Amino acid sequence: MQKTELLTDFTVITPSAEVSTPRHGWRAKCLQRLIRLELPVPKTVTLPASTVRAIAAGQMLDCPAVLGHFGDSPLISVRPSPENPDWGGPATILNIGFNAARHDLLAKSHGQAAADALYLRFVQGYAVHVARLDPDMFEGLEPGARGLNDALRAYEMEMDEPFPEDPARQLADVLRSMARAWEGTTARLLRQAKGAPAEAALGLVVQQMAQGIGQGISGSGVIQFVDPVTGNPKVIGRYLGQSQGRDALKKGEALYLTRDPRGPSLEELAPEIFAELIREGAICRQRLREEMQIEFTIEDGKLAVLDAVKVQRSARAGLKIAVALARDGVITPAEAVLRVEPRALSELLHPQVDPRGPRDVFARGIAASPGAATGRIVFSSQAAQASAARGEACILVRRETAPEDIRGMHSAAAVLTERGGMTSHAAVIGRGLGLPCIVGASDIRLDTRDRKLTARDGRVFREGDIITIDGTSGEALVGAADMLPSAQGESFRQLLAWADELRDIGIRANADTPSDAQTARDFMAQGIGLCRTEHMFFEEARLVAMREMIFADTAPDRAAALARLLPMQRADFVQLFEIMKGLPVCIRLFDPPLHEFLPHSREGMRELAEALDRPLSEVTRRAEALAEFNPMLGMRGVRLGVVLPEIYDMQARAIFEATVETVRAGEPVVPEIMIPLVSARREVELVKTRIDAVAALVRTKTGVSFDYRLGVMVETPRAALRAGEIAQHAAFLSFGTNDLTQMTYGLSRDDAGRFMNTYVQEGVFSEDPFHILDVDGVGELLLIGAERGRQTRPNLTLSICGEHGGNPESIAFCRKAGFDYVSCSPYRVPLARLAAAHLAL
Ligand code: PEP
Ligand code: MG
Repeated sequence: MQKTELLTDFTVITPSAEVSTPRHGWRAKCLQRLIRLELPVPKTVTLPASTVRAIAAGQMLDCPAVLGHFGDSPLISVRPSPENPDWGGPATILNIGFNAARHDLLAKSHGQAAADALYLRFVQGYAVHVARLDPDMFEGLEPGARGLNDALRAYEMEMDEPFPEDPARQLADVLRSMARAWEGTTARLLRQAKGAPAEAALGLVVQQMAQGIGQGISGSGVIQFVDPVTGNPKVIGRYLGQSQGRDALKKGEALYLTRDPRGPSLEELAPEIFAELIREGAICRQRLREEMQIEFTIEDGKLAVLDAVKVQRSARAGLKIAVALARDGVITPAEAVLRVEPRALSELLHPQVDPRGPRDVFARGIAASPGAATGRIVFSSQAAQASAARGEACILVRRETAPEDIRGMHSAAAVLTERGGMTSHAAVIGRGLGLPCIVGASDIRLDTRDRKLTARDGRVFREGDIITIDGTSGEALVGAADMLPSAQGESFRQLLAWADELRDIGIRANADTPSDAQTARDFMAQGIGLCRTEHMFFEEARLVAMREMIFADTAPDRAAALARLLPMQRADFVQLFEIMKGLPVCIRLFDPPLHEFLPHSREGMRELAEALDRPLSEVTRRAEALAEFNPMLGMRGVRLGVVLPEIYDMQARAIFEATVETVRAGEPVVPEIMIPLVSARREVELVKTRIDAVAALVRTKTGVSFDYRLGVMVETPRAALRAGEIAQHAAFLSFGTNDLTQMTYGLSRDDAGRFMNTYVQEGVFSEDPFHILDVDGVGELLLIGAERGRQTRPNLTLSICGEHGGNPESIAFCRKAGFDYVSCSPYRVPLARLAAAHLAL
């Protein structure tokens, strides 16, 4: 090949050289920063991605010219330098330039053993990583001259040529091998899984070796200044005398860095060098504005810094480090906010399965509510309650859950269901309670009568067996897994306080009970965006009154049953208002089909007949009469409000009397009342007229004046399309994207789990639309509703309260559409606050 055809585009890294991350990769740029900080970095040359690509395509680099920069017969290393450190890259190759002559020289200066060991190591690495020979042939060789000769012979036998002696040839081979490894399919798939684009390129850095082997203090190691799991300040690392690269991390005889009762340390061996490392660590943190792990070598008492990488860290450590850097003035609070990925927060809110522990997975499903819990299997809500009464943690395993399971769910540590999707009952309640939950685990078989669960692999689990639910990954594990505790410490609160100063969209919580409301406040939600009142009726005493109301034949009978519910509802609202301390509370009027409140078993029917003092046959007949073919599209929501207006009257009265009680106690309240499942303006008119009348009555009776706001939930496509006229009677519109998704797609939210996986795998849907808002279809309805509503009423308050409300993508969509707030499960509030701040930056 002609000399003129050789590639010559490479750069010696100096403080002023033109080195950039997109062209040369992060490592080259980072080394330049270390050089600018005047850290003792050995001479380094960087090859830009374009050169590496040309090498992979078969062109040659002018290797003698590169070597020329390193003086006479140098030893060098080559390291990968992709644009993003997470994208990996081929293994580092050390000691390039080693050959027989170098071996002799080193034997004289450092002794035969050291020279043999280094040469052997180079031949091994070269044979396996560069010549791609079978690693088995080069493993387990005897150290010393014998092993070295065996390795050289094995190489020659396999390659039909002696081991290359010429440093330029060695370098050319190493570069070609690394450049091609980057283009390989496995490497490509691996980095794309980590978010690398298809065209991601590789830069390479060629660096003068610091020996780590010598007569004086010599060796190598790594050091960092924070704990990777907790993020607390701590010097961590290892040092190994007479070693290179990352040997110290692998070999048992390595020293600790700081004084340690368990053994000798670098601090004792070489206090000045140790102090220098500490100083350099502080410089890196301050100037690179990041916690770095430093790779260093000591050669005859002289320190060299070879590399520095961002410290690997858990989610909790990431948050702690970002806040500490901002507190120390190294980065701004806004940067700290940006450095924490919102989704990482959910890892901190709940205990998690320790990723370092063993995992024996027996079932997989949809990860419906994050966190992990261990307990004994129970197959019924009664068993869950009994278990809780004994103080024993239990996992509620059901085909699916229904409203009557609410108490069982309260008693359980986690929930696993065979059916259901992201917005099924178990999923919604699980998230609301902060309970780890897996739904749609369709590979298990449940036999509730025999109280056993059969996993796909045939393993059988019975009531009382211990399992762990990992709601973060959607995996159910055998036995008690190792756990990491939740971590909502002071750094967590500080970061979110900074996020609140930055964001420009409100965050409220969906909260049904006082304990939800307390959680919402603890997570600093700006109010309740959705209180689903029907959940308040599932307590034993209320369920009976509710059932009496449903079974009442006449208006007065119904009124009598409702009169018993009134004080209970009022007390609920007083509690909510008290907890929320003047923050807005948006209460949704009764929504589900009445039929949901009836018992589903014969046993339950008998109990009900007893409670109502009616014949079983009549109770069963009435229950059957209430059954609907499509209850979710039947007598529910505002339709109940129109047909049986007394229910809403009672709720409105409870809300207003609670308002008066709270106002009298000195706390201002402006309740918000929301009508569910509206599809026509007239529905709103009818309900509004009655609620206004109830308000007037309560004002007159109590002599206390108060305001309230009435709004509409947009959950049907028609409500979105007719938002213009609906807004005539509504102060706010809140998009219930669970039902709106169900109705826009014509897709049952309770049954979609069965085919959703296939649909997503086949690319019919890019994501589960109950999980990630479908911006193209449902999103368009949101935009239409928002625009038409605001045309009628420019100051119309707009929000979203479906399960999508807590997703960063939906928050971005709503913010762009000019929504006032999003409302999500209380446990999603921190994530939503952080995601909203990211959007504003
Ligand atoms: C919705 O439909 O989006 C909603 C918030 O109401 P629910 O989930 O109670 O039907
Ligand atoms: Mg709904």
